[in-house]
Amino acid sequence: MPLPTQKKFIRLPLVQEFLRGTGGEAAIGVAAFCEKKGKRVTDEEIAKKMKVKVTEIRTVLNRLHYRGIACYKKTKNKRNGWYNYTWEIKKQRIVELILEKQKENIKKLEEKQNFEKDYSFFGCKNNCSIVPFEIAAEYQFKCPECGNTMNSFDYTKKLVGINKQIDTMKKEIGQLEKIV
Ligand SMILES: [Zn+2]
Repeated sequence: MPLPTQKKFIRLPLVQEFLRGTGGEAAIGVAAFCEKKGKRVTDEEIAKKMKVKVTEIRTVLNRLHYRGIACYKKTKNKRNGWYNYTWEIKKQRIVELILEKQKENIKKLEEKQNFEKDYSFFGCKNNCSIVPFEIAAEYQFKCPECGNTMNSFDYTKKLVGINKQIDTMKKEIGQLEKIV
């Protein structure tokens, strides 16, 4: 299956969020530049293009390298004998890591959803703490913190929120799965 154009890929909010979380704000620019170039680039080239210090670019690349997203090739410069490092960004790896994380997030949300569906919770009007029925009963339905009555807590709204979150994530995953 053909990969979507780099523009579209880097613009996906999920991809941007992931890059930011993994390599810092500049990681988005670094990935976008590498994608646009379509060939291996040096850290100096990226730094020059982005108008930031090369040390900052190296930090970003190292963070991305740690997760297998950025890969480098070492070549010896015949003229001065120094080593050149040229970098590329593995789009496929980004997709893999995001999918992994999102699937985990969905699993957690679904567990939470089931838990909250199966248990009734109690809380005071100040929302000091939300506790299951057994605990609330031990407190005789008086909030241990503020002394107000603890009432059954309405989770319907919260569940709707969780469901929406899950739906959005599944849609985003669908978009990414097309890329793999
Ligand atoms: Zn309270």
